[in-house]
Amino acid sequence: MNENKLLLRFSAISENESFSRLAVASFCSSSNLTIEDITDIKTAVSEAVTNAVVHAYNGADGEIEIHVKVDEEKIHIEIIDFGVGIEDIEEAKKPFYTSKPESERSGMGFTVMEGFMDEMIVESKVGVGTKVALIKKINK
Ligand code: ATP
Ligand code: MG
Repeated sequence: MNENKLLLRFSAISENESFSRLAVASFCSSSNLTIEDITDIKTAVSEAVTNAVVHAYNGADGEIEIHVKVDEEKIHIEIIDFGVGIEDIEEAKKPFYTSKPESERSGMGFTVMEGFMDEMIVESKVGVGTKVALIKKINK
């Protein structure tokens, strides 16, 4: 089975949110996806990258990696940061949970990612970083 891969590593600044979302969408565009699938992927990647910028590094310097693997069956995207990590992943994934209510966050990022993709797996270690894996099936 032939597989196509992409690796991006970029500075964790908000200016790179739209670049990274568009880069992933354009990489995926040769697959047999609908416009709606591509829109879903853009939205989910954007939420994950925003989280890395806003929460993982809290405005300090840092980097984000995005790994994409595409085969005939699915698109597998990982958004990885090397920031503060998440103490309680189950709590963080709940709708409306945010650790930053004062900065007008709604706490819906993970809920959006989960809803727009077929699968979401969050792994995190406090002080080490966070990996969000997002999977979209092709041709369901
Ligand atoms: P919104 O996405 O609606 O603006 P939010 O970012 O607070 O609000 P989620 O994206 O659902 O909501 O994330 C929930 C919580 O999980 C965050 O408030 C934060 O505490 C934690 N979190 C999410 N991503 C990361 C990350 N990459 N590193 C550290 N903490 C994170
Ligand atoms: Mg968020």
